[in-house]
Amino acid sequence: MMSKRKITVAYGDGIGPEIMNATLAILDAAGAQIEPDIIEIGEQVYYKGISSGIEPRAWDSLRETKVFLKAPITTPQGGGFKSLNVTTRKTLGLYANVRPCRAYSPCVKTHYPKTDLVIIRENEEDLYAGIEHRQTDEVYQCLKLISRPGSEKIIRYAFEYAKKYNRKKVTCMTKDNIMKLADGLFHTVFNEVATEYPEIETDHKIIDIGTALIAERPEIFDVIVTLNLYGDIISDVAAQVTGSVGLGGSSNIGEEVAMFEAIHGSAPDIAGKDLANPSGLLNGAIMMLVHIGQPEVAERVANAWMKTLEDGIHTSDIYQESISKMRVGTQEFAREVIKRLGQVPQSMKPASFAKGGEEGSGKMKLIKRTPAKKVMIGVDVFIDWSDAERDANVIGERLRQVNADGLKMQLITNRGVKVYPDGMRETFCSDHWRVRFFNAEESAITPDQTIEVLRQIKTLGFDFIKTENLYTFDGVRGFSLAQGE
Ligand code: NAD
Repeated sequence: MMSKRKITVAYGDGIGPEIMNATLAILDAAGAQIEPDIIEIGEQVYYKGISSGIEPRAWDSLRETKVFLKAPITTPQGGGFKSLNVTTRKTLGLYANVRPCRAYSPCVKTHYPKTDLVIIRENEEDLYAGIEHRQTDEVYQCLKLISRPGSEKIIRYAFEYAKKYNRKKVTCMTKDNIMKLADGLFHTVFNEVATEYPEIETDHKIIDIGTALIAERPEIFDVIVTLNLYGDIISDVAAQVTGSVGLGGSSNIGEEVAMFEAIHGSAPDIAGKDLANPSGLLNGAIMMLVHIGQPEVAERVANAWMKTLEDGIHTSDIYQESISKMRVGTQEFAREVIKRLGQVPQSMKPASFAKGGEEGSGKMKLIKRTPAKKVMIGVDVFIDWSDAERDANVIGERLRQVNADGLKMQLITNRGVKVYPDGMRETFCSDHWRVRFFNAEESAITPDQTIEVLRQIKTLGFDFIKTENLYTFDGVRGFSLAQGE
């Protein structure tokens, strides 16, 4: 007999303990070879004054077991409490969020019975780096960071996933018609990695039309790989249209550690009432069993669970007079699933999972590259300036005096639109001005020249708030042009 695999388990808040008890009872009855190590996370920990919501000892458990089955927690509002999910993902490097969304028609009502897609969302970068600044009275900034290795890892993960699960197509979603550099990088890396998987069909959709298509024709998608923010939004759209928002599980995969959970929250409105549907967490646990190399147990659980749904045994959230036969509470639902262990559904495709386990599947070999030759050819200086008129010609004429050994002002933009020289009177101007400096011919400049530019700007009485160096990489511009430049 297989030895028991130690896993880290957290019961969480709200409905967390009820759905975790139900889930663990089913896993135990199905013969899962696991040994839970219980850790404390969530409200109680936050109120002890630990702003991350996770006990320090818990990290040791996670480092040892490398597998985390987590019930939802309640994030207290305000008070400097940090989101535990974001902390866990970032601290443990869980870069891939994997969310299968499938319809369980005819047992759960949906307009899209053929939906069976998987969203693979980048989990660490993008606007979620959490680097924000208020720079002027009127303007706030949130930095969007996209890295080549970060993009390559998640895209490669998506292709490997497609290969392992016999999926036919991977669709990349970005907004590279607008963010040509950041989203453009993600799309470029997608095209590069795709060449290594000729057997898999590929496609790219701009995120706005992509989202609309998920809402209208979800059956055309198979695996979708995308950036953090877009992935966050489309996973909820996809879960909603399959009619299974309370049923979905998800995994967060890193090179070492993996975390499994339900997609919903702690539902404080129904906590302690034995009303919660444990299916979301159970589906997360099924993904965990596949991950730790117990796919046969995962199949037993998934098939018994689908059979229970098929027999019309439903919790209140999915109960419908027309299709349901019996309304049950959380623990009774678990007992009904246990009764059906060994059975398979008739009206839905029975579960079948990849064999061999997935531990270590997050480790990716990245393409070796020689770094590009980087040359500084200019600088953008951002200035906080608000006089009554907000007249771009006034700031422009004054800054034309700046000359640092040939490094001179070329143009000024406001919120990305060129306003000097030759701006349009109609363009609205905030108090946040970007002033671009180049040498003649856009030739190489030195850091000393940029320091001299700042000194002269200060002498003219302007308040500079930040600089952004302008580089070429192997002769290619590494910065966007202004609208109207
Ligand atoms: P929620 O998902 O907890 O609840 C939304 C609605 O869905 C509620 O009406 C709830 O009763 C219902 N619902 C959710 N899960 C259900 C289930 N298993 N069975 C039946 N009904 C269910 O979202 P919310 O109300 O926005 O958030 C509540 C708390 O959960 C917040 O503190 C939030 O920060 C937290 N949260 C945690 C996680 C996580 O730990 N992964 C994720 C999302 C939200």
